[in-house]
Amino acid sequence: MTNPQLPQLPERIKRLTELAYDLWWTWNSAARDVFRRMDYALWRQTAHNPVLMLRNASADQLAILANDQEFLRAYDIAIDALDRARAARDTWWQREIGDQSGSIAYFSAEFALHQSLPIYAGGLGVLAGDHCKEASDLGLPLIGVGFMYPQGYFHQKISPEGWQQESYERLNWADAPIEPACTSDGSNCIVPVPLGNRSVLVQVWRVRLGRVKLYLLDTDLEENAPWDRELSARLYGGDRETRIQQEIILGVGGVRALKALGSTPAVWHLNEGHAAFVVLQRIRDLIEAGQTFDSALEEVRRATVFTTHTPVPAGHDAFPFSLVETHLAGCWGTLGAYRDRFMQLGAYDNGSGMQFNMTALALRTANGVNAVSQLHGVVTREMWGPIWPGLAEDARPVRSLTNGIHEPTWLSNEMARLFDQYLPADWRERHDEPSVWAAVQQVPDEALWAARGLLREYLFAFIRDRARQRWRYEQVSAGRVVAAGTLLDPNTGYKRPELIFHNAQRLQAILNGSRRPVQIVFAGKAHPADETGKHHLQQVYRRALDPAFGGRIAFVDDYDLHVAHFLVQGCDVWLNNPRKPLEASGTSGMKASVNGVPHLSIGDGWWAEGYTGENGWVIEGHAPADDHDAVDAADAAALYELLERQIVPTFYDRDENGIPRRWLAIVRQAIVTVAPRFSARRMVKEYARHLYAPAVHAEKVAR
Ligand SMILES: *Cc1c(COP(=O)(O)O)cnc(C)c1O
Repeated sequence: MTNPQLPQLPERIKRLTELAYDLWWTWNSAARDVFRRMDYALWRQTAHNPVLMLRNASADQLAILANDQEFLRAYDIAIDALDRARAARDTWWQREIGDQSGSIAYFSAEFALHQSLPIYAGGLGVLAGDHCKEASDLGLPLIGVGFMYPQGYFHQKISPEGWQQESYERLNWADAPIEPACTSDGSNCIVPVPLGNRSVLVQVWRVRLGRVKLYLLDTDLEENAPWDRELSARLYGGDRETRIQQEIILGVGGVRALKALGSTPAVWHLNEGHAAFVVLQRIRDLIEAGQTFDSALEEVRRATVFTTHTPVPAGHDAFPFSLVETHLAGCWGTLGAYRDRFMQLGAYDNGSGMQFNMTALALRTANGVNAVSQLHGVVTREMWGPIWPGLAEDARPVRSLTNGIHEPTWLSNEMARLFDQYLPADWRERHDEPSVWAAVQQVPDEALWAARGLLREYLFAFIRDRARQRWRYEQVSAGRVVAAGTLLDPNTGYKRPELIFHNAQRLQAILNGSRRPVQIVFAGKAHPADETGKHHLQQVYRRALDPAFGGRIAFVDDYDLHVAHFLVQGCDVWLNNPRKPLEASGTSGMKASVNGVPHLSIGDGWWAEGYTGENGWVIEGHAPADDHDAVDAADAAALYELLERQIVPTFYDRDENGIPRRWLAIVRQAIVTVAPRFSARRMVKEYARHLYAPAVHAEKVAR
């Protein structure tokens, strides 16, 4: 391995480094077990960062491990599993699609793979990360392309007044599971990218995920000017100028990086509009190889797949033409002769005048387009009508392909152990088949309830630990320690987060019910520029400080993948109350459901198709959609009603052994109905069949 800060490992366990540097370990319990056994205290202290653990390991400790029979057994099992997970034979893709000739390049501005690699902000990154992990499991020849942000996304602290404060920490690269990507001659891959009238150097880093590789672009090189080194510093951190330059680096630089690495993708998947400049570099390359603009565009279209995620017009990236002209100045080459035609591909008026719109560019240059839920498909076909003049709404070429979650990543060990016992032996391989899950009905109530209890305890231990850290190292006041969740009793979600406080007295009565108390845990970050979002968080935090709620409201700060794991597994109900139809899909409710945490949500995004009547609850206030105050009041009333009449009574309805039988019936339904259908396995298979395979085959015919 190339990290000079790692210690020399004893021969017997020398592949530990390889295991630590392949994020496949994050979703394999045998591999996680190796690092847990290596040093449990350090495992927890580093928030599960094996690279950092290895850096801190002493020669003595390593020598002991190399002679510890139990450790060696776990090590051998994990290494053997790693080799099998990396082997490219007999995969689903091979059996089903068969084609091994071309790869699928998957471009995304963020990837959420693990908390030790902070290059994600939220849902979009989680989806991209889960997509890549599942692609590895199914054997898709997929290559991810994204950014290596040295400062990542911000860390969240809450001030005594409840105001969100952002801090950026520089990642120590020796602590992250990344390595320099090398070209065939063994040198570090560095490519020049034209920006305006200068050239910026981009270094490429590699992340391994089983069979899949991810390439991350980085401008923080000494050869670059200080302002150019900053370009890739932060995710979504800058102004419009920074944003368009980042997008040129991702699109144009990403294509150039793949070429430098000797990769020739057959499919180019743009995850959201940020990466749409991929098509610019590709059209230019084809023209330079002798094609006309029209034939180049046709070829690019055959191989391009685009996923849109945003149901509001303002959420799509658009730039003034002058800004595009300035920053693309050096990108044209022979495409310059067709510059106006290219600019037309992005021209779109989304209500604030004609601009260069990244989503419009992607919609006009991709053959396969999809939205991320049934409902979002309807919204997208309606919203982007002008792209397809004369086409009726249902004829517009946008497929609805609903999101899913990577189940090996999100499923708790406790639940997986139960499934090992009661489900068919090959349930992991077949977890997208509904029939596999029927056996959840065989899991005894007692065992299911015991697992739920353990997961709840882990969450509360995690919350108390974090509150203790703040108390000990940051000397926060006692009130703030309560707000961080210390008074939560282990025996019992963000987007309009304050909705549940609409009627404070009614909520107090629900929370403080003496025999049936209820507790609420909040977590979430507001975008640094989102003042309204920060005000909402402040409202929530003030409630957490308010003694009237009896310490039964907690706010867990710095929401990230690590926190999310504890929350989605350890709560009893997952609450989500977006304003409809602003949730394109949402995935956190899926993560909760597969762990036996039923979803309580507005019928928006995935829940509009996931709710069956028995696997959770829909909050359905009745009010005219354009009257926001009336909608909030009606939704809040419907939420209280559900809590008071159904959720709390059912949860506390215990038999003589203390088991909530009726509750567990809902828990079972949540698992059975959500696990197969909302898995990334189902999702990636659909991408492969409907969007990737046609492009792969079209390319072959064209050749
Ligand atoms: C799953 C996840 C999200 C997405 O949450 P939604 O409620 O589906 O929008 C955001 N952040 C993190 C850290 C997550 O794990």
